[in-house]
Amino acid sequence: MSEHESLVRRMAWPETVSRAVGTPIQPSVVYASPDPDTLDAQYEGRASGYTYAREGHPNADVLARKLDQLEGARDGLVLGSGMAAVAAVLMGLTRAGDHVLGGDQLYGRSLRLMREDLPRLGIATSLADPTDAAAFLAAIRPETKLILLEVVSNPTLRVADMEAIIAGAKARGVLVVVDNTFTTPRGYVPFDHGADVVVHSVTKMLAGHSDATLGYVAAGDAGHHKAIYDFAVTVGLTPSPFDCWLAERGLYSFELRYDRAEANAAALADHIAGLPGVTRVLYPTRPDHPDHNRAVALLGARGGHMVSFEIAGGRAAANRLTQAAPNIAFAPTLGDIGTTLSHPASSSHRALGVEGRAALGITEGFFRVSVGVEEIGMLCSEFETAIRAAV
Ligand SMILES: *Cc1c(COP(=O)(O)O)cnc(C)c1O
Repeated sequence: MSEHESLVRRMAWPETVSRAVGTPIQPSVVYASPDPDTLDAQYEGRASGYTYAREGHPNADVLARKLDQLEGARDGLVLGSGMAAVAAVLMGLTRAGDHVLGGDQLYGRSLRLMREDLPRLGIATSLADPTDAAAFLAAIRPETKLILLEVVSNPTLRVADMEAIIAGAKARGVLVVVDNTFTTPRGYVPFDHGADVVVHSVTKMLAGHSDATLGYVAAGDAGHHKAIYDFAVTVGLTPSPFDCWLAERGLYSFELRYDRAEANAAALADHIAGLPGVTRVLYPTRPDHPDHNRAVALLGARGGHMVSFEIAGGRAAANRLTQAAPNIAFAPTLGDIGTTLSHPASSSHRALGVEGRAALGITEGFFRVSVGVEEIGMLCSEFETAIRAAV
């Protein structure tokens, strides 16, 4: 045998009587079965085994089973991004002629999917305010197939009237899809409240370190699951094994990170509210929040890890604030282990224009904070320094 022939053969994995404690990464695109009978058995579900990574792979499944535990789900799917998960649900469960109703403050790209892409495919869409259950339910049409909700909106942190909307949607035979990214299963478990499908951007708090882009979707009904799975696998919304591995590693500390970030967020909101030049602070469980009573009823003491606030002085003051907070990343994301700051008027909500933003209360002095796990005294003093320098 020549050296070249032996080089192209895969080496056997070294034998070991001990086992690795860490999760292995399996990047293989394809899996070899012993014979056609076994492959038949795999495809028919009589034997379990992977075939081709686009259809599923072990790192995605290990991560999905952990997320299933958090959401009280079965057979959830991990996909290549949060938007892949949203798209797989909306496009996997609808057909031309259906109508989809969404909350009017959904994540920016979800709004774009609703406004541009679904209508292009013959699926009608509309948006309504989910803090007003009567108005929201009145927007349901005979051909409404599903509604898409986020529990806490971005960036004004309004709390949807989940109980009334879910009850009303169920009574009308409409599927309820909840994007649970902001609340996380630590704050709210949609399946416990009657949701049909749950989606996540795992990229955010669940993975938690801003180094993996992933999504998750779980459906309570096996037929819905299959429709979503088939669509996702057909159009290739598959996640990278390495990203799944990173996210699974991140999940080990999810509950610790979340609880710490949430406690920090509540304390930071109160601290910022007492500073001169701060015109508004939004945190769901603060008594001055517009949905305070609903937040307490729905989320208990759990206000989450996001805080929004507004300072006087417009764009010039906003520029001074980020410049005076060099250790707080000014970046349009959320859920990182460290605190990040975003400015919706120049990023997530720039496409709305001044008037569209004004309708939501988003001014040039409006900031959204994704609070991290730093020591709270340091965090409060960094924000205080930045705000005092700005206003
Ligand atoms: C970030 C986000 C998404 C999209 O997730 P990606 O992983 O960035 O594709 C969807 N919904 C919400 C609420 C988000 O915050």
